[in-house]
Amino acid sequence: MGSGVLCIAESAGNELKKSAFELAGVGQRLAGALGGPISGALVGEGISGLVEGLGKRGLPKVYVVDDAALGRYTSDGYAIALKAVVQAADPAVILLASSAMGKDLGPALAARLGCGIISDAIALEVVDGKVHATRPVFAGKAQLEVEPADLPVVVSVRPNVFEPAASGDGAAETVAVDADLTGEQIRVVVKELLEPEERTIDLTEADIIVSGGRGLKGPEHFHLIEELAAVLGGVVGASRAVVDAGWRPHTEQVGQTGKTVSPKLYVACGISGAIQHLAGMSSSKCIVAVNKDPEAPVFKVADYGIVGDVFEVLPELIKAVKEKKGL
Ligand SMILES: Cc1cc2nc3c(=O)[nH]c(=O)nc-3n(C[C@H](O)[C@H](O)[C@H](O)COP(=O)(O)OP(=O)(O)OC[C@H]3O[C@@H](n4cnc5c(N)ncnc54)[C@H](O)[C@@H]3O)c2cc1C
Repeated sequence: MGSGVLCIAESAGNELKKSAFELAGVGQRLAGALGGPISGALVGEGISGLVEGLGKRGLPKVYVVDDAALGRYTSDGYAIALKAVVQAADPAVILLASSAMGKDLGPALAARLGCGIISDAIALEVVDGKVHATRPVFAGKAQLEVEPADLPVVVSVRPNVFEPAASGDGAAETVAVDADLTGEQIRVVVKELLEPEERTIDLTEADIIVSGGRGLKGPEHFHLIEELAAVLGGVVGASRAVVDAGWRPHTEQVGQTGKTVSPKLYVACGISGAIQHLAGMSSSKCIVAVNKDPEAPVFKVADYGIVGDVFEVLPELIKAVKEKKGL
């Protein structure tokens, strides 16, 4: 049986994603408790330059599959490449982010390895020498405590929940892995990637999110949400009701069928707090809700609640933040 922890790092636009540093942080803690080595994995095309960044975050060894066939994410290609990496590194725990990519890749990799998977962990410990994870179930209504029956195990970790590893002056050794990727093994190929017109911070990585719901009455009032997000240094989110109504793009939807977010601050404005919305944001560190209905379910999860009309409260909040920041 293998030992230690392997962290599968994600990158975008030739930069490591924040989730990679979070995996390095939780991975080092686990590897220390399990008494095994820690290493990283990078898969893609032209990604070798990212090894240095992982070294600085405390990963002394990084396994790299750099192949033109992996220029764009493909389930088959990445799972094949990472299986080869796992065989080379022989870890007990394989960590990846519970991101859009990780949610697809984790089960595919576990199936190829013939091992178990724990999805969307929000806490990860070693208890009596065993890996012990906590994950939300029933759209966040309950939490499940799980331990894998066997190792290795793949664990996907919710982004923005764990502290990122601090940046230091460490360096990483690169281990190139030959994954023997032949064309016919990769059955699904991404042909085209449609970039959003405006590139904003990915909601799942944002520290501050200001979300608007149907209480805003129409898309023409979302400038209030945008302004508050801008002065707070955050990004805009939305409930499904407003996305379905075509007021906001689906990329902004938070919830069970949208994005799962865990920012430091989540401000819900004119959002009722239906269970499907809460499923996507209840693990936020601080929740502020603005709603004119004091019985709105969102207040049950809010740390701070403002019972009031968004059209009165939001301009006051924007003004107050501007004054405080001297803007
Ligand atoms: C399978 C499934 C998946 C789903 N997935 C998601 C999901 O991913 N994300 C999601 O968000 N929803 C999801 N939903 C929908 C969810 O059930 C709710 O319908 C949706 O979240 C409601 O959006 P809302 O809170 O903006 O609107 P509403 O429920 O209409 O609530 C509007 C709120 O605004 C308040 N309000 C009105 N006017 C004002 C004002 N002037 N000032 C202050 N407050 C005001 C009201 O009191 C009310 O609480 C899903 C549903 C299903 C069945």
